[in-house]
Amino acid sequence: MEVLTDKEIKSFLETAPLYTWAEFKKPHVTRSSLWIEAIDSFCEKCGMVRPFHDMRSRGGGTGMAVKALSTGTSYFEFTCVTCRKERHEYLIEQTVGDKTIKIQKYGQLPRKHLERDRTLQKFFSDDSENYEKAIVCLSHGYGIAAFAYLRRIVENNTIKLIDLVLNDVQCSEPNSKMIELLSELRKESPMSDKIKIANEALPEYLKPDGLNPLGRLYQVLSEGVHSLSDEECLNRANIVKECLKYLISELSSRKKNRRQFKSMIGSL
Ligand SMILES: [Zn+2]
Repeated sequence: MEVLTDKEIKSFLETAPLYTWAEFKKPHVTRSSLWIEAIDSFCEKCGMVRPFHDMRSRGGGTGMAVKALSTGTSYFEFTCVTCRKERHEYLIEQTVGDKTIKIQKYGQLPRKHLERDRTLQKFFSDDSENYEKAIVCLSHGYGIAAFAYLRRIVENNTIKLIDLVLNDVQCSEPNSKMIELLSELRKESPMSDKIKIANEALPEYLKPDGLNPLGRLYQVLSEGVHSLSDEECLNRANIVKECLKYLISELSSRKKNRRQFKSMIGSL
């Protein structure tokens, strides 16, 4: 369990879905409130992620005794530092125990938009219904369901995904042994073999800091989730989503760049 710090509160406000509890160890230094100065959030007016600060003037508490945080509710208000117009508000309920502090969001303004990634939407267009459901489940923190939908989507689209990688490697490294490995991955074989092959079948340029998103994807999908908690499933569902997002967006933009380059040079 993590200790409750400003960093944890920031990340909780930014990403936690409504009505899901998170539990933290009590910090060593007693907090008087959950207050933090700033978060990062998407500003609709600016059209991008911006820092949001609490710009309310803080009343000087001279002479007032500092009370320790107690069970109850907290209100947060942050304003975009760039446009100074958009405001994000959060309502938090906290339960303070002997050793831990539990918090949940019970209100959020504006309503959180579902994260829609156009590249992924396009890639999974044959499976759009499952993709939509996966996104809804992720945004509500329904981990078990999100994981099940994502697994189904990946199963239905594995060949398409491998072919996208294969096509890229054929263009970039036509003599690579990875071409053979990727063709191997297209065939029916036990999951344990697939993980091993996937871990060697990705070129360096698709492995940020040596992290192999294809291998990670197979790994996470192969592990059974029947005994895992909703929270652990949510964590795995997010790993699957991030691996897919990285691979597909990276490969799609490489493909687009190649096409543009070829058509430019061809016309000169
Ligand atoms: Zn703004």
